[in-house]
Amino acid sequence: MSYAHGSRRALITGGAGFLGSHLCERLLTMDFEVVCLDNFLTGSAANIAYLLHDPRFQAIECNINEVAEIPGEIGLVLHFASPASPADYLRFPIQTLQAGSSGTLRALEVARAKQARFILASSSEVYGNPLEHPQRESYWGNVNPIGLRSVYDEAKRFGEALTTAYRKEFGVNTAIARIFNTYGPRMRTNDGRAVPTFARQAIRGEPVTVTGDGGQTRSFCYVDDTVDGVLMLAQSDYPGPVNIGSQEELAISRLATLITEIVSSRSPVHFVERPADDPEIRCPNTALANEVLGWSPKISLESGLKKTLAWFADQLAAEGQGA
Ligand code: UDP
Repeated sequence: MSYAHGSRRALITGGAGFLGSHLCERLLTMDFEVVCLDNFLTGSAANIAYLLHDPRFQAIECNINEVAEIPGEIGLVLHFASPASPADYLRFPIQTLQAGSSGTLRALEVARAKQARFILASSSEVYGNPLEHPQRESYWGNVNPIGLRSVYDEAKRFGEALTTAYRKEFGVNTAIARIFNTYGPRMRTNDGRAVPTFARQAIRGEPVTVTGDGGQTRSFCYVDDTVDGVLMLAQSDYPGPVNIGSQEELAISRLATLITEIVSSRSPVHFVERPADDPEIRCPNTALANEVLGWSPKISLESGLKKTLAWFADQLAAEGQGA
């Protein structure tokens, strides 16, 4: 990787979260030193426990908003701190808005002071309930600013605006990754999202709770592919925004069936109330990521789900709740 000062020391906010911990792990394998910042609001110590023995890895328990200074060189700042599952950001609405607003400001200030490359973890949520399908980066989105999901959507949109302003005003080497639904090991079994919820229910033989009629779509990308995309963006000088996600779109009811089939579960499907403002459709156009980064996902939904479900089965057994 080439950076302004060639420093192979990265700061990851939200480094103990699902995506953050995978990024920490991958950067260490790429011979980076990693400073992981997390307040453990939704991240967990278990996600990074096995990295602590590595002298190149440093974990700091802290809210990004309370960081005064990060000593030493930093060549890359990855701002991934935020609750990310709808259940979490509804539980922590103000913290979610802070992570995307003043949290992004603090992270950008670190990048500015260190002359580091800066990557904002933005989200497909900036497209809201999209009227363009699949979504290209040029689409401005359809977001309800006072809706249930607005605490997350608008925080990410503000983060994008702030990142763009820092690039223009201060010349910070920024980039925006719009990350679509990602799944894989280390999601919390109770985080409320579709993949961990269906996995837990199917493994335990409980009814699988599909919201609405299950006809709404999502496109799920395996975490290793998402990490590849983010780090390829980090290695480039491209400002983005760039979509990072899978184009394998499917109805949520189909996802539920796939998961029950993979674990050979007899769980019935229960249709439950659909949350307000739940997007109808979501699928990225990833032509830009392919063109400017040479990135496209490699792992099929089926093979990614198999790995993930095996992990969830172990995890639930360890939690003493396995089938
Ligand atoms: N969903 C579901 N059952 C659940 C959890 C989620 O049917 O137990 C639905 C949810 O309403 C949405 C889709 O699955 O339509 C994806 O939800 P998730 O929370 O995983 O991600 P997001 O809505 O942020 O894309």
